[in-house]
Amino acid sequence: MASEAGSNPSPVDFIKPFKDAGVTTIVWKTPRIPDSHSEEFTKRLEAKGFKVQTLIIPEPPQGYPVPPVYPELALTILNPSAADTILKTASDLLQEVYHERKNVTVKVDVVLDRRFISGEANGVPLEVGETIRIIPKIEKLSPSNLIIMVADHKQPEPPPAKFCSKCGAANPVQSAYCYKCGEKH
Ligand SMILES: [Zn+2]
Repeated sequence: MASEAGSNPSPVDFIKPFKDAGVTTIVWKTPRIPDSHSEEFTKRLEAKGFKVQTLIIPEPPQGYPVPPVYPELALTILNPSAADTILKTASDLLQEVYHERKNVTVKVDVVLDRRFISGEANGVPLEVGETIRIIPKIEKLSPSNLIIMVADHKQPEPPPAKFCSKCGAANPVQSAYCYKCGEKH
């Protein structure tokens, strides 16, 4: 099963030993932020009888940029028959533990026999929780080998509320002078 020298490693090469060891799901920990929530998630899954492995999300190679966002919750589900329960547990956790956050990012990969479903959702915890719960349903809709779902629930920024009477430029509400022409509001 080892990759031959010079060939590109496949994600399956990495996952197979965990799958063979009977691991149900891998929970990825953010490398830069102390993260007690993923430990809580792991505990909840183990209490339901799942075998969970926690791994740290690999840092980018030296000289490559760090990703702008590390997901608050990232998991790889190796046993697809457990996906419904695991995603429901994750959804409940988001609503209980992350409820004060304005924005969370969750990344889920489900490894099926011959394909992956990869989902990423971003936004308020409630909506993200609802979105990830439908991932197993998407699997049944499409026969594609790789399904990627991205859901962005970010609220649009409120527009600037003050327009200059002289030049019409849009200015922030709290500004005393127009940024464009200098007119006093
Ligand atoms: Zn102006």
